[in-house]
Amino acid sequence: MSFEAVIGLEIHAQLLTDSKIFCGCPTTFGAAPNTAVCPVCLGLPGALPVLNRRAVEFGVRAALALECSVHETSIFARKNYFYPDLPKGYQISQFDRPFATGGRLSFARDAGGDVDVRITRVHLEEDAGKSLHHGFPDSDRATYLDFNRAGVPLIEIVTEPDLRSASDAAECFARIREIVVALGVNDGNMEEGSLRCDANVSVRPAGSPTLGTKTEVKNVNSFRFLAQALEFEVARQRALLESGGRVRQETRLWDTTRAETIAMRSKEEAHDYRYFPEPDLPPLVIAAAWRDEIRAALPELPAARVRRFVEAYGLSDYDANVIGRLLPGGAGYFEAVVAAGAPGKVASNWIQGEVRRMLKAAGEDDVGRAGITAEHLAGLIAIVEGGTVSTSVAKTVFEKMWGTGRTAADIVQADGLSQIDDRDALNAIVEQVAGAHPAEVEQIRAGRNNVFGFLVGQVMKATGGKANPKLAAELLRQKINAG
Ligand SMILES: [Zn+2]
Repeated sequence: MSFEAVIGLEIHAQLLTDSKIFCGCPTTFGAAPNTAVCPVCLGLPGALPVLNRRAVEFGVRAALALECSVHETSIFARKNYFYPDLPKGYQISQFDRPFATGGRLSFARDAGGDVDVRITRVHLEEDAGKSLHHGFPDSDRATYLDFNRAGVPLIEIVTEPDLRSASDAAECFARIREIVVALGVNDGNMEEGSLRCDANVSVRPAGSPTLGTKTEVKNVNSFRFLAQALEFEVARQRALLESGGRVRQETRLWDTTRAETIAMRSKEEAHDYRYFPEPDLPPLVIAAAWRDEIRAALPELPAARVRRFVEAYGLSDYDANVIGRLLPGGAGYFEAVVAAGAPGKVASNWIQGEVRRMLKAAGEDDVGRAGITAEHLAGLIAIVEGGTVSTSVAKTVFEKMWGTGRTAADIVQADGLSQIDDRDALNAIVEQVAGAHPAEVEQIRAGRNNVFGFLVGQVMKATGGKANPKLAAELLRQKINAG
């Protein structure tokens, strides 16, 4: 029997607001422990939460980009559980009436094929504090608590279990990361925990309509680890079922050193949350007019930009994906080069070739930091397209332009690099080359045409690469045929 994996994701994204979701404390990462706290986020008696409008706006932005319905009225709920880093004894979240439901995300896999994922819901909630187990004087016998993170705004994005492989799940998470970063609502920093992904994983006989028992995989803080953890977990469950065993419903953590998921004993095992409506907050009302205003102001998303690059500039899917999505700073630079008059395909080639090569040599990958402005690159492309310099000379000119602010025209003129198109001037060089290589000329006359390229190369060399290669070949052919 063959088994298939069934995976759904739960993504927590910290919103890039200046202050917390229900109080005015700052959200700065890395501040000294317990310096960004107040009675509200510490849950002191009598303190009342006040909702941060910016957090709602950012949440709506993300929900709309994920094609969700944003509801006019939603309800905050208390999710009750005990944990040392949760000072109130409950987390303010949304439960049965989240502000957004019913979205979708479609993407073309980098490896080919389309993936469609339904988005179950997006809701707003507050983050918890942090338990610190290392680095303090009594860490060997005590846990330290830092409440700076308590009350930082989060959205939780929940997908339906529509993913069928670990790699699809990792790519889905990458796409969602790309979207929230492009929207400016999250910094995408998984290492600092501002973007986190949990996955519900089960396996079932291929094609079966029912779901198997699932486990929840937590604590994965990179795409690579997510793919590895899910790969491992799917294989573990498959082996269990194949040997006649049963999967236990539990939370498992990814152990990076052992490269396996391990069962975790904690609050989550019981799943014993009790929810009730938060009495200190009125229903959240998102007026249709405000929602539409936010929708109208959404930036172009990476996937849409890739489509536009294909349609408007005639780039291949591959090039559009690299320039429009994958290359940091690539899209903006590319559009500026094209706006300055360069053909799209040529601009894309220069950026993926020479610009990247020079950046790489400088230990950089952000095209926005290229040592040549978009306008100057367009100028260089124009004189190559116009035939003033050959492609090989253009690469030399490009290197001289890098970091100097000089234009291509300036360098070509100053260094006398213009292409030699003058028949008489070039003929004189062809005569010289032919005269210096009588044996090769005889071989070509005898039909050994593979030597011809060598002679053209000699002409190019004699002119420092400046000869028009087509004209050089034409003149050389004439000379040899003339005997
Ligand atoms: Zn506070």
